[in-house]
Amino acid sequence: MQQRGVTVWFTGLSGAGKTTISKAVAEQLRDRNCKLEVLDGDIVRQNLTKGLGFSKEDRDENIRRIGFVAHLLTRNGVIVLVSAISPYRAVREEVKERIGDFVEVFVNAPLNVCEDRDVKGLYKRARSGEIQNFTGISDPYEPPTNPTVECRTDLESEAESVDKVLNTLKSMGYLIED
Ligand code: ADP
Repeated sequence: MQQRGVTVWFTGLSGAGKTTISKAVAEQLRDRNCKLEVLDGDIVRQNLTKGLGFSKEDRDENIRRIGFVAHLLTRNGVIVLVSAISPYRAVREEVKERIGDFVEVFVNAPLNVCEDRDVKGLYKRARSGEIQNFTGISDPYEPPTNPTVECRTDLESEAESVDKVLNTLKSMGYLIED
């Protein structure tokens, strides 16, 4: 039986847990010998979408390019794990429609929790005005209205979040049962 490709798209505020969960999901999938690729927003912005900023236009372009690559891989049977803030609903919907095999994971923690974590020290810099257009502080985040999975990372453990994602992939037929 051949693996079916799918894009698993993690959206949420900075520090919500997108990278943490997607890395852990990737590890589990590697153990199952799945073909997979990870597109992490922070890394993508250093190459594929280098030079783009944080205006709405540039953020949408960033998402479209990530979506383009995710689509190519997905249609070739790869499980693609995308983690990107992707704050705008319309462009998320657009890539979802284009890719088709698509699982939207809303990595959700309240702003104050993300800000207290301040994993990369960015919230502090956003509050002081050093960084502008920072999602949640000085730029919008439009939460998904009907995500495939929601991980409340302030209420559940990382392992629970990872299990939710894997169980969804299983129930949708994207993981071949052992
Ligand atoms: P993002 O990629 O969304 O910016 P990160 O994954 O870099 O976020 O950081 C999320 C932080 O939250 C990490 O320090 C992680 O250990 C912590 N965390 C606490 N609980 C959870 C959980 N249930 N799931 C994922 N991360 C969690």
